[in-house]
Amino acid sequence: MVETVRYTYRLRPGSTAEAALLAEWGRCRWLWNEAVHQQKIGAKPTFCKLSKLLTEARGRNTWLREGSQVVQQQTLRTYASALQASFKIKGRGRPTIKKLKNTLPSLEYTLRGFKIRARRLRLAGGIEIPVVWSRELASDPTSVRVYQDSLGHWYASFVVCREVCAAPASSGAIGIDWGVKTTATTTNARFDLPHLGHRKRCAAELARAQRKMARRRRPKGHAQSNGYRRAKRAAAKLYKKAARQNIHDSRQWAKSIVDNHQVIAVEDFKPRFLAKSTMARKVADAAIGAAKRELAERGMRTGRRVVLVPPAYTTMTCSECAVRAKQRIGLNVRVFECMACGFTAGRDLNAARTILATVERDRAGGDDVRHVITSLRGVGSNAV
Ligand SMILES: [Zn+2]
Repeated sequence: MVETVRYTYRLRPGSTAEAALLAEWGRCRWLWNEAVHQQKIGAKPTFCKLSKLLTEARGRNTWLREGSQVVQQQTLRTYASALQASFKIKGRGRPTIKKLKNTLPSLEYTLRGFKIRARRLRLAGGIEIPVVWSRELASDPTSVRVYQDSLGHWYASFVVCREVCAAPASSGAIGIDWGVKTTATTTNARFDLPHLGHRKRCAAELARAQRKMARRRRPKGHAQSNGYRRAKRAAAKLYKKAARQNIHDSRQWAKSIVDNHQVIAVEDFKPRFLAKSTMARKVADAAIGAAKRELAERGMRTGRRVVLVPPAYTTMTCSECAVRAKQRIGLNVRVFECMACGFTAGRDLNAARTILATVERDRAGGDDVRHVITSLRGVGSNAV
């Protein structure tokens, strides 16, 4: 079996290449915003119509002709499919204007638009960029996305095919509950994912960096100072570092879970980044988000059964006799005690056991309609 995955590499463009990339992005952004405008005036822009408009516009404007047609067409194709998706999928908003201030450069090249020659990435329009080949590509790439992150670093994300590596055969089942103190509590203590020390440190550092930013911020309408920009960059750097550590830890953890279990029952935790929540809470939520994503992705890829269980009642249901407590258990109560059978366990352990039991019983009737099990299909990106 073959799977499609993304392999991402750091790019080191020189000043000429970087200027060319930014100019390319400027043209694509203009086209995207034109397409949004077409939609707003009710022109129902399909890719076909937009393509025609592009040909006309390129005929009229020399500055547009200076850019690569491949990447411009791809921009419109992406726009058209985003628009299509917004009609089909409930709750998905229409594509919006990309403002210079708050969108980061991102360019997509199909097979016609790029080549790898002499270990360098060559893009349409004569842009040549050295790549940091941190690992070998699994196959010849079929497309590439070139993008810049909030720190100004450039990356190339190639789409490649590779053989699926089968996980070792396993028959075990595990239930997983997410939390702030312990990122993941599982039915088998050996597989728990503790909230690591470096996360606490990083929460404190991030909070400090954001206070610094707040101190230096000037009122709206005034240009921000260099001190503010430096503070903002420092905060972004810390944020990135924390995100990388999260991904690293969760990948190792997800591998150990997936290698040893066939059925994986996961609490369907949705982080809410509330304005008032503390930095520690935000950092913990981000750790949970990363772990859940990595687990889902790896589980799906290796053909395990990954099931998401809605978190309603999992903390107040006894994992031994399935009787639900009459009242919600306060957040500070760390031990679960069943009134019916006298079963006692740690609050999170009981929740993890209930999550697993829900999946094993596969119940979805009567009282438990809200426990309907959602299979995790197509969730998570393919980013590697
Ligand atoms: Zn009980």
